[in-house]
Amino acid sequence: MTTVWVLGDQLSRRRGPLADDPDRVLLVEARAFAERRRYHPQKLALVFTAMRRLRDELRADGVDVVYERCETFGEGLDAYFDTHPGDELVVQRPPAHGAADRLRDLVESRGGSLRVVRNRNFLTTREQFDGWLGDPPFEHETFYRAVRRETGYLMDGDDPEGGEWNYDDRNRETPPDDYESPPLPAFEYGDHLADVQEWVREDVETWGDLQGFNWPVTRAQAERALDDFVENRLPDFGPYQDALLADDWHLDHSLLSSALNIGLLDPDEVVERAIAAYRERDGVPLHSVEGFVRQVLGWREFMRHVYDREMPGLASANQLGAERDLPPLYWDPDATEMACLSSSVGHVYDRGYAHHIERLMLLSNFALTYGATPQALNEWFYGGFVDAYHWVVTPNVVGMGAFGTDAFTSKPYASSANYVNRMSDHCGGCRYDPDATTGERACPFNSLYWDFLAEHEDRLRSNHRMGLVYSHLDDKRDAGDLAAIRKRARAVRDAAASGDL
Ligand SMILES: Cc1cc2nc3c(=O)[nH]c(=O)nc-3n(C[C@H](O)[C@H](O)[C@H](O)COP(=O)(O)OP(=O)(O)OC[C@H]3O[C@@H](n4cnc5c(N)ncnc54)[C@H](O)[C@@H]3O)c2cc1C
Ligand code: SF4
Repeated sequence: MTTVWVLGDQLSRRRGPLADDPDRVLLVEARAFAERRRYHPQKLALVFTAMRRLRDELRADGVDVVYERCETFGEGLDAYFDTHPGDELVVQRPPAHGAADRLRDLVESRGGSLRVVRNRNFLTTREQFDGWLGDPPFEHETFYRAVRRETGYLMDGDDPEGGEWNYDDRNRETPPDDYESPPLPAFEYGDHLADVQEWVREDVETWGDLQGFNWPVTRAQAERALDDFVENRLPDFGPYQDALLADDWHLDHSLLSSALNIGLLDPDEVVERAIAAYRERDGVPLHSVEGFVRQVLGWREFMRHVYDREMPGLASANQLGAERDLPPLYWDPDATEMACLSSSVGHVYDRGYAHHIERLMLLSNFALTYGATPQALNEWFYGGFVDAYHWVVTPNVVGMGAFGTDAFTSKPYASSANYVNRMSDHCGGCRYDPDATTGERACPFNSLYWDFLAEHEDRLRSNHRMGLVYSHLDDKRDAGDLAAIRKRARAVRDAAASGDL
């Protein structure tokens, strides 16, 4: 007798072992998971509600489901093997480093056996990645083109659709002042969400707002979320994907990561839907569709393999030797008068979500130039987001956001206020001046940026992609401005550390 063990991030019925008409299904709702760190309450509500909804759907279809609610996986397996001694369980390979071995030990020590099969939540295999990229440094663009060729997505024979692999230069617009992104669909949840929320509210220490939950928790809801994105937001996804607006937390982003990462959607189906919209509908530009396909087919798959290749060292990587903890503003949007950061931390608190540019150019950029350790930042992201899982959060934060390693990021994503001022509407209403570098009102991003470059000059100056910015640093040094800038950076760090920035 084989039982499919369905983990909380493997809820797909369309592929993998659940698609093969299993005799029996096991789900273990282990409460200890919720206590490992201060998670966002909406993340806990999402995963546990989605598991219960899947259980109900399977039972309604006549599948024998064993659903164990307990403290730990170990306790859940004790209960399972008490009544089903010697069973074989089959599970999809969990993407977290070392997790498959840990699960096998748990099962075998209880007299069962565990068969680990390919994880179908990803399109590409480790063998393909190794074959295409070899040894580090790993280049995303090489990987992305190889996957396009392999899958034929957005290909015109041997050439990329439209003649270019990448339309990034058309995807850097800011919306007009009166722009409103389309409203989002709302979902009905029934009793399970309320039950889980009550437990979370009463028993678990979390960070974030429990109310306002609006994430898909079933396959049907995830399909609706996908339909809605393709129908309404995909056309403008490309041009505005790098923009930041104070009053629009999602703009035209898909909001599909939470569903993709727990198996309610498949990566190839979302890619195919976007491509079909481009081929079948007017007004869906190639640069939007290619931009979206690159995120899912390129970045999502790439990060998964980079994690696989670089762990366990990736989690503790800190090539710049950063030493600070995160300042209080990461937990309290009111602990700073920086309009952009306060808004972005508020988005995370409210929903466990911020879009990619907020994550990279605000939340990570500040921590990087402030000198916070990649590990402190990783822990914050891991706890704060509804779509965070170790395999995806760690490479994104430690590698891309905090430049803890150069295994796949060729330069740090550090920037001054210039970027935020160009891409957002935050600066107009901010206490700080984006054009000033020194003085009480100078935007903190400016002094931190130049100070960061000066601090890590030995390491970064020789990077050919940093030549231009170092020539600007030289100008500041030659003009005798650098000492005052670095003094302002120290004052900014002190103020941030004491919650007064
Ligand atoms: C510092 C930092 C931390 C991040 N943490 C996470 C995380 O915990 N979980 C997570 O899923 N993504 C993470 N990302 C990647 C990306 O920001 C999110 O996937 C995206 O913002 C999710 O929102 P969306 O679904 O609206 O995405 P969209 O902007 O609509 O993009 C479409 C899809 O592309 C995929 N995608 C895009 N970029 C990436 C990427 N760099 N890595 C993996 N998938 C990508 C996601 O599945 C996403 O749903 C992080 C990025 C950064 C810079
Ligand atoms: S001035 Fe600086 S802190 Fe204020 S919104 Fe602009 S970039 Fe952010």
